[in-house]
This record gives sequence, C-alpha cells and structure tokens, in this order.
Amino acid sequence: MTNSAARPESWLRVTSAGLYCEPGDLYIDPMRPVARAVITHGHGDHARPGNEHVLATPETIAIMRQRFGELAGGTLQAARYGEQVAMDGLSLTLVPAGHVLGSAQLVIEYQGYRVVVSGDYKRRPDPTCAPFQPQRCDLFVTEATFALPVFRHPPDGREIEKLLHSLRLYPERCQLVGVYALGKCQRVIALLRAAGYGEPVYMHGALLGLTELYQSLGSLGVDLGPVRLATGVARDELRGKIVLAPPTALADRWTRRLPDPVIALASGWMRVKQRAKARGIELPLVISDHADWDELTQTLDDVGAPEIWVTHGREEALVHYATQQGCAARALQLTGFDEEEE
Ligand SMILES: [Zn+2]
Ligand SMILES: [Zn+2]
Repeated sequence: MTNSAARPESWLRVTSAGLYCEPGDLYIDPMRPVARAVITHGHGDHARPGNEHVLATPETIAIMRQRFGELAGGTLQAARYGEQVAMDGLSLTLVPAGHVLGSAQLVIEYQGYRVVVSGDYKRRPDPTCAPFQPQRCDLFVTEATFALPVFRHPPDGREIEKLLHSLRLYPERCQLVGVYALGKCQRVIALLRAAGYGEPVYMHGALLGLTELYQSLGSLGVDLGPVRLATGVARDELRGKIVLAPPTALADRWTRRLPDPVIALASGWMRVKQRAKARGIELPLVISDHADWDELTQTLDDVGAPEIWVTHGREEALVHYATQQGCAARALQLTGFDEEEE
C-alpha cells in the first residue's frame, strides 16, 4: 500500500517559480531560471532560458538550443520517450503529449505514487508529432486551455479544405495564414500535403528556422515538401499561393509585399467569432494544438486518476466535471502561461 505521508500535496506544490517537486529539487516548466528544470516542450511559456540543468526530450532540447543558443541551459540532459531517469529517489519518465514535436507529459513516481503532469496536449492525430499516450496514475495535472463545453474543435481536414477552397476562389490573391512558429506552422504544411497540395509553401523568415529543424529531426518521416522564403519573391509570383507568417506579422508592413492577401489565422481561438473579427481575420481556421472539451474529459476518463489538478486556462468547468466523476479536483494557481501561443 502507498504511504499516506507521501501524498503528492506534501511534495509537489505551486511556488512563485512554478510547479515544484521537492524530492529531486526540480521545477516543471519554471517561470524563472532555476537549478533543475524539467521542460515539457519548446513553447515560450514553458521553455525559458537560463536554467542550470534541463531535462527534456532530445527534440525539445534541439528546439531550445535553436531558440536560446548558449542560454538553453548549463547542462542539457536528453531523455527519450519512455526512458526512465532516476533522481534522488524519484523516477522520471517523459511520454508523448501529442502537442508539438518533442512535447512530453512528465510521469513522476515517488514512494508508490504515480503523478502525471500533462504539459500542453491534444488527442487528435498530428502528422508532425508522436500521439498522446494516456498514463494511468494517482494524480493527473492537466492543462485547461479550452476547458469549456463550447470548445469543440472541428476536424482539421475540414479547416484545410476551407483554405484550399479560398485559394481556388481567388487565383489573383494570396492566402496569408497566421501560424505560430513552433508546431502550428509545420502542422498546417503537413495537413496541406495530406490534402494533396504539392505547390511550394511560402513563409515569413521568422518561421523558417523551426521548419528546417522539424525537417532535420524528421524521425517521424514527415515530408513537408517544398518550402520557400516569401521575402524577395516578386508580388506576381505569390498570386494564388499560400504564405505563412507569425500572427503578429499579419497586420505588419511586411504584408505590403503580398498581392491582396486573404488574411487567415490557424488557431483554436478562431472558434470565437468575435476574436476573429477583432483581429480582422477574413478566413478563421479552427486548428488547435490543445485538447478541446471532449478531448480533455476523454483524457480524464482514460487516465483514471482519483485526483485531478487543473491549471493553465479555464479551470472551473473541468474541476466541476472531474468532481462530478467522483474525483478530488482542484485548480492550481499557476501563472505565467500565455494562451495566445495557441
Ligand atoms: Zn504549448
Ligand atoms: Zn502552454
């Protein structure tokens, strides 16, 4: 039997630097530099520079190196999915979270308790990363970005078809699609390829580095096909083409070089019509790297944990759901997450 003295709330807690695990003296996705960090994935609100020791998947380490250079961490320890790392009486294992390339859930085993910290995750297939693996556990710490029953993401194929339809409808214009540099960009390209689109995909310079990294880490065998920098390409050559850019560049002077762009944005937030309208998005594409309501509740069922901690988004509805299912559930007051990264 498990030792009640070792219940997770006595050794895993929220601090000003983030979620802290006392045995092992480590922080998970810390908000400021610490001595020992476990990083779930490369998005800027989870992976920050300056930690002394970093444990992460090899892909996440490669992403951090690319983003932060020397500041990625003093020592960078790579653990492949499923590889157990022993540390001060703890066993740590990273398992796929299905969010972006290299993204991981952290499984912590300590004194008979098995705790899983999800990081960001989704359940639907993504050709650019390994699929989420539900882990049975005693405590599941889940994200809650889209944790309201109103959030039900449509099938990705349908959203990509909207983009291809717009492309056929306006052969004189270009389709300018806002995508986050890590994950969404490469997934949109892979989805276009899966839909049979073989033309070069053009992109803003800020997206090229991570896209090339995805291609070079292509352990999953995803061929993103021809990808070109949009900078320096003649305006007429971009008519009838797809151009990807970071969301922040959609309203920027950079877009003046483009031929009458149809402004699109690929984000789970495009489900909220007012958000699309406020940002001047003509073609909202509901493509999310986070679990929607059904995926979140499905996951709680799959992991079967009697205790649920909810963080990073709309905690209340999911806490309520978990409580109704007979779980002990509570919201964690973690700060520092940027939901716009989605
Ligand atoms: Zn993320
Ligand atoms: Zn996040």
